[in-house]
Amino acid sequence: MEEREKREPQEGGQEQAFYDWRKKFDEGVKRDLKDYFQERDYVVMAVPKEEPLRVWAVRATNTARTAQRIHNLSPMAAAVVGRAIVGAILLSSLIKHGTDQKVGLKIEGDGPIGYVYVEVDGKGRVRCLVKNPDVPLFTKEVGGRTKLDIAKAIGNGTLTVIKDLGMGKPYVGVVPLVSGEIAEDIAYYLAQSEQIPSAVGIGVKLDENGQIKVSGGWMVQEMGGTSEKALKVIEEAVKKLPPVSDLLEQGKRPEDIALMIIPEELNPHLLGLKEIEYYCPCDEEMVKGVVAGLPQEEVDEIFKENEYLEVKCHFCGKIYRYTKEEVEKIKEEAQKEEENKQPSEGKEEQKNSEGENDKKDQEGKSKG
Ligand SMILES: [Zn+2]
Repeated sequence: MEEREKREPQEGGQEQAFYDWRKKFDEGVKRDLKDYFQERDYVVMAVPKEEPLRVWAVRATNTARTAQRIHNLSPMAAAVVGRAIVGAILLSSLIKHGTDQKVGLKIEGDGPIGYVYVEVDGKGRVRCLVKNPDVPLFTKEVGGRTKLDIAKAIGNGTLTVIKDLGMGKPYVGVVPLVSGEIAEDIAYYLAQSEQIPSAVGIGVKLDENGQIKVSGGWMVQEMGGTSEKALKVIEEAVKKLPPVSDLLEQGKRPEDIALMIIPEELNPHLLGLKEIEYYCPCDEEMVKGVVAGLPQEEVDEIFKENEYLEVKCHFCGKIYRYTKEEVEKIKEEAQKEEENKQPSEGKEEQKNSEGENDKKDQEGKSKG
């Protein structure tokens, strides 16, 4: 027992061989990541070997670019959404990796952007909504650098986190915005609502055309019981860390950033990674449900002036189009299904909380 407690590996012993292997393994992992994820978005998690502390680092440049294209975001809006996307990805550390569990981040204020909502699932799939995608540019001077004034675009308001663990009612936590710069607000949420002391850094840079150039961030979480010494080392490392957008611009990758936060002396290990992409799971089935739920008068009204009924998904911009005959058939089938349905209260409730959200976001729209 006593020997086990001793953490120092014995020279030449079995433990030493294991640590050598782990070190080599980490080198191998780093190399593989480099090749495979050359241009991809992903998040990595790293830990110091013997401290209950976790570090995440993410690059979400492509995801933010896709969001900018889909939602036709002005440069300012793209900067806000880009940050919110990174924030939501970091918050997805609260849900189970590889599952359909979801975390939603809503940032809402009295500023011109209105609100931004980003949803991330356990598989790293991201989608978002923006109230006003056409926000003018706000800048401020900080230490001789001109920076985007994210807080001005958002204004005073709240940060809401919706955790859907697939067990009925989602868990909702709301905190006031303390800075409006998103990173600090997420750290505040984690401390207040999840009781996890955290440090968060998020950065987005635009190119000369106002397009997303880089987008990413990092997060440190103290899980309780970290040694004073380790905390001090990490604190120093974080203090010295250049802005994450600078690092990404220089070609640094998530694993590089994670390992800058956990210096060599704390024996860092990369524990895992998750690929990130903009992906909307909306499909014909979901939309048919929305169409079936439209009141008949509304449907009649639409077809009075239009050849098609169109439903647009506000998350991905995809348009679903139906003729009058198709709508009639959808409604008929839905009715038949309704009649055959066995009453099962519990299930119904769960469906509603999810279905409603989708309905709200996939409003019926008509156009010729
Ligand atoms: Zn969609």
